[in-house]
Amino acid sequence: MTEADRFATGVDGISGQWPSPPNAWSFSSLQEAESCPRRWALRRATYIGVWDRSGYPPKPSTPALVGDVMHRTFETLVTAFANAGCHALASECAVDVLRSLGGYSAVIERSIEQTLGQYEGNPRAVDRLESLRADLKNRVPEMRTRIQDVVARTTRATTPDPIPPITGGATGPISKRQPLSVGSHPEVELRAPEFRLAGRADLIRVKGDGCAIVDYKTGAPSPLHIDQIRMYAVLWAYDADLNPRQLPATELSLVYTDSTVQVEPPTLAETAELAAALRDRTETVESQVAVDLPMARPGVDLCGWCSVRHLCSEYWPFLEALPAGSRQELSPAPFGDCAVLIVARHGPKSWDIDVTSHGRNGLLRTPSDSTVFRPGDRLRILDAVLSDAEEDNRAIVSLTQTSEWWLLDPTN
Ligand code: SF4
Repeated sequence: MTEADRFATGVDGISGQWPSPPNAWSFSSLQEAESCPRRWALRRATYIGVWDRSGYPPKPSTPALVGDVMHRTFETLVTAFANAGCHALASECAVDVLRSLGGYSAVIERSIEQTLGQYEGNPRAVDRLESLRADLKNRVPEMRTRIQDVVARTTRATTPDPIPPITGGATGPISKRQPLSVGSHPEVELRAPEFRLAGRADLIRVKGDGCAIVDYKTGAPSPLHIDQIRMYAVLWAYDADLNPRQLPATELSLVYTDSTVQVEPPTLAETAELAAALRDRTETVESQVAVDLPMARPGVDLCGWCSVRHLCSEYWPFLEALPAGSRQELSPAPFGDCAVLIVARHGPKSWDIDVTSHGRNGLLRTPSDSTVFRPGDRLRILDAVLSDAEEDNRAIVSLTQTSEWWLLDPTN
């Protein structure tokens, strides 16, 4: 990375350095870079002075955190069951493992702490960690029910025959890359260096003549999940370290919290075709992100979920040009984003503003009187509550605990 990679964001005090393409693309990073190269680059750029880690700090949201906690809990349980050689939830072995872990709720509580631990030092999360913790703890009973159901179906769906004790080769989480032995292997990192691709399968069960790949999903079913697990089948086929005998993937299972979807594994010919297509995709994407300014592809289906939209120069003109009726496709009402110009102080916790992105006058309400602006300040505001004043139809922009705002660079 050089000085030439530096870029301005328009936000006061925040500049970044573009990232280099990764050594290996994961399914999600490839998919993200294809849908919007700018988002891929903004999320992974280095921002000196924002925090001491690489990438832009992610903004936590309760639904995403619940998904992370549940996935982490599945990992813990499946790893423990596999390491102990358990083949059914009803087995004495599984009961012993669960007891040693302290039971489902204890595993979930530890997953909550591990998940929130990733947000320590994150400037976008620091004020909300305690309320997020309380929110997650309130959901432990619901998560426990869903996890129990998934674990029960996983053990039924993927281990129809007892797994023999493992006597050689790699078992459990892979620390060294070596051929996988017959048995269950949680958290397997698959690599295909010739295609610059990698992926982490939740569970691989190797049999004598092939393997079953299992992936846990905490969200709603999506066609992308099918593409992802088929990519894992390709990685398995080309991973010479873990699969030197080139055993085929004979069973692909997507385990959701309320159902299991069996995906047709690719044939040998389809595997080669998929591999060639993936190689083309990585080459295309690398040419799109390794430029001075990666292309932005604003759209209502993408930008509302983009955690770095306040840094994106293309998003704000896009928002301004959107018809008022389409803005709700970006964020569910009453929440929304806006760009504003501070005109004057209106009251202890309110400011007269021009909502420049919406072409209206308005009033900005802040939660406390310690938030102070100067006339002429320009702000980008995310996730405010937007409404209309009844008396004069001015725009009312209310900042809440989950809203964020940034001052724009006055020299731009
Ligand atoms: S705001 Fe939209 S266009 Fe900009 S980086 Fe995010 S997804 Fe891409």
